[in-house]
Amino acid sequence: MTTAASRGLDPEVYRGDFPILSQGVRDGRPLVYLDNAATTQRPRQVIQAMVDTYEHHYANVHRGIHWLAERTTELYEAAREKVRQFINAPAGEQIVFTSGTTGAINLVARSWGDANVRAGDEILVTEMEHHSNLVPWHQLAERTGAVVRHLPLTEDGRLDLAPFDALLSRRTRLVAVTAVSNVLGTINPVEEIIRRAHDVGAVVLVDGAQSVPHLPTDVAAMDVDFLAFSGHKMLGPSGVGVLYGKRDLLEAMPPFLGGGSMIRRVTLEGFDPGDVPARFEAGTPAIVPAIGLGAAIDYLAAIPADAIHEHERRLVERAHEALASVEGLRIIGPPPEDKAGIVTFTLGRIHPHDIAQLLDRHNIAVRAGHHCAMPLHRRYRLSATTRASFYFYNTPAEVDALAGALDQVRQVFQRRK
Ligand code: PLP
Repeated sequence: MTTAASRGLDPEVYRGDFPILSQGVRDGRPLVYLDNAATTQRPRQVIQAMVDTYEHHYANVHRGIHWLAERTTELYEAAREKVRQFINAPAGEQIVFTSGTTGAINLVARSWGDANVRAGDEILVTEMEHHSNLVPWHQLAERTGAVVRHLPLTEDGRLDLAPFDALLSRRTRLVAVTAVSNVLGTINPVEEIIRRAHDVGAVVLVDGAQSVPHLPTDVAAMDVDFLAFSGHKMLGPSGVGVLYGKRDLLEAMPPFLGGGSMIRRVTLEGFDPGDVPARFEAGTPAIVPAIGLGAAIDYLAAIPADAIHEHERRLVERAHEALASVEGLRIIGPPPEDKAGIVTFTLGRIHPHDIAQLLDRHNIAVRAGHHCAMPLHRRYRLSATTRASFYFYNTPAEVDALAGALDQVRQVFQRRK
């Protein structure tokens, strides 16, 4: 059977929707935007949905009884329903709007963590986590006396599952793991991790910041307890993200932030918290960003999710081949078949900041540094790397432009020796 993925996705069909991609940034040359793991670009449809809201449908949500407030509330709740469908969550109440992945993970650490983790309990993370999925657990451990343990990495950039069973025990309260590494691109076997963690009674939080935008996501099939992701990494605006949680876990969690909207009743003596998800959305939420995220999901849902992954895999394959011809270039991480659209590398002894700066002269945007993953870099005895990260609107020609420019970077530094 011919699937959408096997037919391939034509990025040119979509590029025209992204005003920023056709903008010449220097000398009239187009931008080659390869920094999608940091943040993606927005299509006109998302920008317009937000402009329309500000121009025609804007008031506060869940407060007013005038028609404008009701209209905005409808749009805000429709966005929640779009998120629900996109990740196949059983109910809209299980979708909490947060400020992003970081906000979602901190909410779990503060609310679920403080209520459920005690001195001597263990939290299991991995050596490839983004700081957003490490620091909140260190902070929880500092508050409670729990211990943070970690699953190591193999030399070729995968999770080493060999010691997993030995690390898991009845003391393990939570396993926090990313579905896709933001540095190595590695796609982790999260379903297996969830199954094995559940066998010892541990709760699993999956960081979906780099997976939900790129891979089909089905929280019901995964049986995941918590999933966190960000709007701005999936065509939506910054300032909004999502925490999905199993209903029984969310309902048992105390509120983290207190304020308007999250209560049932307040007296001078105390308060009764509201139901989920309102209990976790204190104050005026990111109304227009949430509606923008809904528009981003409309856009993404019209593209077969497996076609996005397949297109990115082909770009990664091409990048691995093309970059191999650049003398001294070393890709960190597994082979293309085990990765999402991320290629991270070193080039001889040239500092990644210099590489990124010289690529910028070719109008190629990449990221350089530790990518908020210092333990991972320490594991590979590196302080920084350069990362090219793709989305469905990137083209094979852009990959070739990267390889060509990197060869010129190498030559510039060779001449300087
Ligand atoms: N987790 C991963 C794997 C990421 O790549 C990122 C952002 O780069 C985050 C968490 C944090 O996302 P945000 O800054 O949107 O909260």
